[in-house]
Amino acid sequence: MHSFIYSALPSRVIFGCGSLQQVRQEVEALGATRALVLCTPEQVTLAQQVSDLLGDRSAGLFDRAVMHVPIETAREARDVAQRLGADCAVAVGGGSTTGLGKAIALESGLPILAIPTTYAGSEMTPIYGITESGLKKTGKDARVLPKTVIYDPELTLGLPIGMSVSSGINAIAHAAEGLYAHDGNPIMSFLAEEGIAAIGRALPLLKQKPADAEARSDALYGAWLCGSVLGHVGMALHHKLCHTLGGSFNLPHAETHTIVLPHALAYNAAAAPKAMERIARALDAQSGPQAVYNLALYNGAPVALRDIGMREEDLDKACDIAMQNQYPNPRPLERGPLRQLLQNAYEGVRPVG
Ligand code: NAD
Repeated sequence: MHSFIYSALPSRVIFGCGSLQQVRQEVEALGATRALVLCTPEQVTLAQQVSDLLGDRSAGLFDRAVMHVPIETAREARDVAQRLGADCAVAVGGGSTTGLGKAIALESGLPILAIPTTYAGSEMTPIYGITESGLKKTGKDARVLPKTVIYDPELTLGLPIGMSVSSGINAIAHAAEGLYAHDGNPIMSFLAEEGIAAIGRALPLLKQKPADAEARSDALYGAWLCGSVLGHVGMALHHKLCHTLGGSFNLPHAETHTIVLPHALAYNAAAAPKAMERIARALDAQSGPQAVYNLALYNGAPVALRDIGMREEDLDKACDIAMQNQYPNPRPLERGPLRQLLQNAYEGVRPVG
């Protein structure tokens, strides 16, 4: 075994069907008395339910979380938190809502209690992103890592199946890249393989029966592990490409991950054979890239960038941006093969290798 450094990130996890009921006592355990509940406009009903459970520990609701955390929304939410005298933020929703909580915590240091309802995994990371003048800036800060996470699979029963599959493969992407991370370690690789396997088992079952509580629990458990990998080790080519495609061409987050992942894995396959073996084993298949592609294809998720709004004439520009900053990746970045990767993802063909 090679030598490694492992710094564990501190967070408390409450997992299980019905665990939402514990939200008030968990807010109190943080020493907080006035929690501001955050959500998107689409999830107000759930957020109101959380606020009701908090009773006099609720300072109110802020229901304007949107994708990519625009600086204006972050400022507005910070002002509301201050005006209401909030001493804690409860983020109930997907990565966009958790992201808004992080933007508040970054300036104010308010503790975050996250209640995830997708598989994006942001609740397990100290990574934040804020968009200003069309540019999304990301960074790492220990203050934005949620102190407590309540994973209640019941809250995901109604996550539409298309989004469940894309969000699940978004989670798999964190674990897959964690398996070949330059700063990886055996603990995170262990979590990564377990996380991929849990989601890989769950998605086909959810396709048949979207409200299957057991499969929903498996998927959320997998998302936790995969998110934890994202929080602990560095990502590579796949995340860089998705950041470029999402940020510069405004493509949807989870779907972009779903489409690009098989191709990014195929690009790195020969340079990271052990990681590929573990991905394939987790998905009970011969080939990691093929298994991820099949997971999307057979469960109704998109497989082509052209189907989610990418324009073919922008592929060269996307390739240029992706080549700009060098970063650790198992295989060096080569323009020709990278451009071909993007073409394959654009057309949605089966990954090569
Ligand atoms: P999202 O949070 O934008 O949610 C998409 C839509 O689905 C929203 O309208 C939301 O209200 C709705 N939704 C969420 N859960 C639902 C449920 N159970 N039932 C019905 N509708 C539901 O999507 P996402 O993919 O979770 O998050 C994407 C964002 O998170 C991106 O901006 C991405 O950059 C960020 N992210 C950040 C990190 C990090 O570590 N900082 C990690 C992963 C993702």
